[in-house]
This record gives sequence, structure tokens and C-alpha cells, in this order.
Amino acid sequence: MTSAGRFAPSPSGELHVGNLRTAILAWLFARSTGRRFLMRVEDLDRARAGADAEQLRDLAAIGITWDGDVVRQTDRGTLYTEAIGGLTAAGLTYECFCTRREIQEAPSAPHAPQGAYPGTCRELSAAEREAKRAVRPAAVRLRSAVTEATVHDVLHGSYTGVVDDFVLRRNDGVTAYNLAVVVDDAAQGIDQVVRGDDLLPPRPGRPTSPRC
Ligand SMILES: [Zn+2]
Repeated sequence: MTSAGRFAPSPSGELHVGNLRTAILAWLFARSTGRRFLMRVEDLDRARAGADAEQLRDLAAIGITWDGDVVRQTDRGTLYTEAIGGLTAAGLTYECFCTRREIQEAPSAPHAPQGAYPGTCRELSAAEREAKRAVRPAAVRLRSAVTEATVHDVLHGSYTGVVDDFVLRRNDGVTAYNLAVVVDDAAQGIDQVVRGDDLLPPRPGRPTSPRC
């Protein structure tokens, strides 16, 4: 499989200027480095009827071209189920019964960043899980073996971010974006990701870009 870049809009409404900026840059980075450029609609959540057609029309209108058919995440549920099944078979997932509020109010581990999952359900016994299943459905979390990961960004250099036991499948059964985007990037041969820099910490002298 040849390497590829991509643009992956969420069809929640019209594309805004930050989305268009990212789309143009992603297209230019891919095309100028001999990669395929793929279009993926991330419609697992927050989709508004008709928004994807409007977005694709707007992208075409500013000269964005893509290779092959548009991929929609709602057509790929089997792939996500298989990925979670493989991780579960390897002992790398666990059920989590916490509400958002319980996570916010739980004492966090030392040095854990705000909002990181505190690990409440990591070591529940089979009996505890069974009792909790009777009260509310479980989300599925990754049993992460690391607490941080480093990526290399072409513009910003090395960046190290926090990794916690993030959600793979929400307790309403919807595959989490965190899982779907990785499964799709791997399956599609994506080796170049262009996105806004809104997740980077502010640095002196670095202008902030539109969120996208
Ligand atoms: Zn939990």
C-alpha cells in the first residue's frame, strides 16, 4: 500500500475557515510529497443530515481533489469491533462503569493531568463487574501500558503528550473517535497527519491558529 495523507471532517455543520485551512494544507503536504490524498467522513457522532454533501461540495469548490471513494466511518463498524475484540483477547481492555461526574470527583493519581482517567475500574473483580453491569452499561477502556507518548511534528518538532486509559467504546455502544481514527489510519496507509495546532501548549511568539 502506498503512503497517504488525509482530511477527515466531522459532518456536524458547515466547514469553517479553520477546517478549510487544514484541508488545503493536508492536500498540499500529501500531493507535494507524492502521497495519495484520502477523504474520510468521521460521522460516528454529531452527524447532521446532509452536512457531509455540503462539506464535500465546498472542498471541491476550492480545488481539493481526493483519491478513491469517500470513506464513512459509519460503514466501518465491523473493523472497529474486530479491533476492540483483538485488544480484549490480548487482555488490553477493561470495562468502565464510571459516570463523567465520578471521574471528575475521583482523587487523581499523583502527577496525573486534569481530566485523566483515575483508573477506578482497572482492577474490578468479576463479581464487582457483574454487580455494576446490572446498574449501567459499561464503556470499554484501553489498559494502557504507558503514561505518555512522543510524536515528531514537521513544524513543531518533538512533542510529548499524556496517555491515559482512554475510552475505545462508549457506554452507549458508539465506537470512540480515539479508536476509530487509529484503525482507519492504519487500514488506509495514512503516514502523514496534518491538523491544527490547538492541542499544543501555547508558546511565546507562536500565534494561535483557528481550532480545527
Ligand atoms: Zn471506571
